[in-house]
Amino acid sequence: MMTRPESIAAITISAGVAAGAWFYAALYPTSQIFGRVVIAGDDPNEVALTYDDGPNPSATPVLLDLLAKHDVRATFFLIGESVRKQPALARAIAAAGHCFGNHTMTHPWLSYQSAARVRNEIAGANAAIEDVIGARVKLFRPPHGARRPVVLQIASELALTTVNWNIITHDWRVQASEAIVEKVRNGIRRNQASQCGSNLLLHDGGMNQPRMPGVIATETIIADAKATGMRFVTPEVWI
Ligand SMILES: [Zn+2]
Repeated sequence: MMTRPESIAAITISAGVAAGAWFYAALYPTSQIFGRVVIAGDDPNEVALTYDDGPNPSATPVLLDLLAKHDVRATFFLIGESVRKQPALARAIAAAGHCFGNHTMTHPWLSYQSAARVRNEIAGANAAIEDVIGARVKLFRPPHGARRPVVLQIASELALTTVNWNIITHDWRVQASEAIVEKVRNGIRRNQASQCGSNLLLHDGGMNQPRMPGVIATETIIADAKATGMRFVTPEVWI
């Protein structure tokens, strides 16, 4: 039997839709299709500052000073290998009272890794953080936000709550701190219009990447939030 052209078109479209749905579920930060991921609560005046990929000796100490100066508690999603390399800095994050979470051992795209590798990455980072900091890890953020059902299942088995974000500034690309601030303002405005809190993703860590624009932007982000009566929280309040 010959396949009619319109059937071929239908198959191609449904394959395209299926691929699109998979990418949405795996990579869209706020998608809940592959399992629950904490984003934010429904109080539009709450904001969580979250910093990924550290600790990083060139940016994290400056950021810690700035957060201390403004008495703001933030959240750091730490890479296990970097924690092993920078134990004093990892301890300084915790000693300053910040929330910390697991961002895997080596930062792979977990959506494409075997279940065994996923488990090693998450369990390895838990062990590194717990050895160095001496406290249990409760939060997990998959690198790039990328996941599939087994990733969330393994995180849950390891007693971790998975957290993504709802404001991204692409601060891994070279840009002025003003551009980062502008994206954050737009993101907070958008979240407030839809009656939800803001979970802001920035980076203090990362190999040889420019991190100071995001750190400098943090000062204005904090000033803006304080001026408009927003409260700083950590994702734990949204679990
Ligand atoms: Zn990351």
